[in-house]
Amino acid sequence: MNVDAIRREIEALCALPHRGSTTEEESQAADILAERFGELGLEADVERFQSHTTWSWVYAMLFGGFVLASFISAGSPFLAFLIALLMLFFNWAEHTTLFEGLGQFLPRRSSQNVIGRLPAQNPRAHVVVTAHYDTSRTGLPYAPAMVRHFRSSFISSVVTQVGLTLVFLIRTFDGDGFLIDAFQVLATIYLLYGIAIMVDRELRGEYVNGANDNASGVAAMLSLAEAFSKKPAKGLDLCFLANGCEEVGMTGQRHFLLNHGHELPPDRTYFLNIDNVGAGRLRYCTGEGMLRFFPYSPTLVHLAGRIAGGAPFQDVTPYAYTRAYFDALVPAARGYQALSLIALDEEDQIPNWHWHTDTIENVDMETVKKGADFAEAILRRLDKELAAS
Ligand SMILES: [Zn+2]
Repeated sequence: MNVDAIRREIEALCALPHRGSTTEEESQAADILAERFGELGLEADVERFQSHTTWSWVYAMLFGGFVLASFISAGSPFLAFLIALLMLFFNWAEHTTLFEGLGQFLPRRSSQNVIGRLPAQNPRAHVVVTAHYDTSRTGLPYAPAMVRHFRSSFISSVVTQVGLTLVFLIRTFDGDGFLIDAFQVLATIYLLYGIAIMVDRELRGEYVNGANDNASGVAAMLSLAEAFSKKPAKGLDLCFLANGCEEVGMTGQRHFLLNHGHELPPDRTYFLNIDNVGAGRLRYCTGEGMLRFFPYSPTLVHLAGRIAGGAPFQDVTPYAYTRAYFDALVPAARGYQALSLIALDEEDQIPNWHWHTDTIENVDMETVKKGADFAEAILRRLDKELAAS
């Protein structure tokens, strides 16, 4: 697609005020995408699933568990220790996606993935191109003055949680002292402050329009779908997956793998994820993980590196992503070969991330096109090398 066609795809999605996870607008966006897949010559399908509606309550419950444990630790330090261990487990579950997180205890609503297929007769490999189409709420963690501290806030909250767990263990063996008391009081206040931030996000946060996050990635995916529809791959079974509910904790991607994992052998399936490719400079990620780092596919990272060595992609550089999560985390954590593309500014921030300014005026169509072209180059090269091997 040229930049005008890419702009039209982004405009079609951004004509909706937002595509908030599990909302009616998200469902309307799914209808638009199913129609587009059909027009591009793909077999289109909408798959519905149930999801919790926000990550704010997940974190509020997580922090709340530690605060509760802190209050009961004076009377029952061992029980406090057990609650804290359970909460650490849920934190681990949330950020590795290997177990169900606290979201399972929250009310659920309906959401959907949109799938477009370009099947191959005797495929050498399956490729799933993913781009989420739902949009996030704003919130204080994303305010321009706060957003660059996103990663350090996450780390300090984890340190606080681990520290409190150790304090409860020490108290179980009758340990005490000023330092322990002081740490526990400060840590508990810090987590109460975290709960307040989460409640504020639910009360005052507004769904963003999501031109960069992630209409840009969806447009790049549609551009790829068109390219492979016109000029089919030799041996790739292609599935284009527009995910719902990425913004609440990758629920759409989890649902997809629950439903389709058995059709996709990890040694012959590649996931190429495109997220936020509309502002800044394009990067290919070498892996991701907020709590545990999952390296991406050596094959795909190597291919991306070789393509980035030639025109017009010399400014595309590798990047290890730890700020938040991508839909690619779910397959990467399950042993699949994955890769994510993202554009970041020169301070490695996502421009206008989850903020009111994530609108179409702030998207550079050339960057989106570069993302689409880079992704296509990777898949064409993969197709060619698999055919030769
Ligand atoms: Zn996002």
